[in-house]
Amino acid sequence: MIPYGRQTITEADVAAVVDVLRSPFLTQGPAVCKFEESVSDHCGAAHGVAMSSATAALHVACIALGLGNGDILWTVPNTFVASANCARYCGAEVDFVDIDETRNISVPALEAKLQNALTNGRLPKIVIPVAFSGLSCDMQAIRRLADEYGFKVLEDASHAIGARHAGHPVGCGRWADITVFSFHPVKIVTTGEGGLAVTNDAELAERMVRLRSHGITRDPALMDSVPEGSWVYEMQELGWNYRMTDIQAALGASQFQRLNEVVDRRNALARRYSQLLAGSGVVLPTFPVEEGSLSSWHLYAIGWNEACSGITRASAYRLLQDKGIGVNVHYMPVHLQPYYRRLGFASGMYPIAEAYSATALTLPLFPQLTESEQNHVVEAVLSIASR
Ligand SMILES: *Cc1c(COP(=O)(O)O)cnc(C)c1O
Repeated sequence: MIPYGRQTITEADVAAVVDVLRSPFLTQGPAVCKFEESVSDHCGAAHGVAMSSATAALHVACIALGLGNGDILWTVPNTFVASANCARYCGAEVDFVDIDETRNISVPALEAKLQNALTNGRLPKIVIPVAFSGLSCDMQAIRRLADEYGFKVLEDASHAIGARHAGHPVGCGRWADITVFSFHPVKIVTTGEGGLAVTNDAELAERMVRLRSHGITRDPALMDSVPEGSWVYEMQELGWNYRMTDIQAALGASQFQRLNEVVDRRNALARRYSQLLAGSGVVLPTFPVEEGSLSSWHLYAIGWNEACSGITRASAYRLLQDKGIGVNVHYMPVHLQPYYRRLGFASGMYPIAEAYSATALTLPLFPQLTESEQNHVVEAVLSIASR
């Protein structure tokens, strides 16, 4: 089976992890600091805060941005459930904004919904745009709306480390208040499990550092009382244990050295898919058009064309799986998950996301996918794409 995604682990990665196992630190220590610096330097952001997962990073980022009971967070249906769940952890409500043909948040839909929310006094405190498949959202437009309507921008760039937007790395902090990356093994860079938040705001970074470790500070400058000795720590607020380990960070830092190489390879494979599948009837994914923009191509997701092929997406999925091709679906709309249906969401509410999702098929894409494996995938798709 050719999987839809797979990590690449080199001997250098293995050696970096073994070095940590022989060092005095296993949990958060010098390797975490070094990894945070590598990521924030790459992004051109002032601060990086590593955590146990992107889910943890989204949670802590929401708290740092002030989300709580009675507040509302908006995101898109075309994402992983974690982009919405982070609001629920904080006791806040979730609402969704439909996507456009790029499969990212629709700026006109966002603007229309904001105008409505302004009239009925239900403006969101946070909007989470998701850089689906590694393609940045229109961050300049989202920033403009954030300034106009007074919400915070928490960018879910779980797919998009190494991507660029309008001449800047995703995570640069020009447009988002906080950007979150995931290092799950299917993503661009892995730490096993892991996530990281970048921001240019020192206070937000300090708060996230405290929240990932029980709400505890050991910095005398941040304490209520003058400490009696260096053993003293203060728990300033309720936090969690969301720390990344040095074992994970060493793997991440080693992987990170190959970031450009990996993103180039993913781009080459994505371009090749689009060339080989052009004219086949399937809907091809969007390449960035803006000058200075680059997708990280976490996913290569096509739209299955039932009219042209005469077979349903579900049949195409099964036929391709039977040929050893690990196709997948990204994503089932979040608002149609039973948990969110029970909160009042229903089909028909976000028609573009629902229509896209019903046709979505993710083809295998990872750096070690060979051209001959890719040819095998393409031939299998072409053999059923049109009648
Ligand atoms: C993978 C993913 C997450 C969650 O990442 P974890 O590191 O597994 O917690 C969140 N949002 C999106 C869009 C993702 O793809």
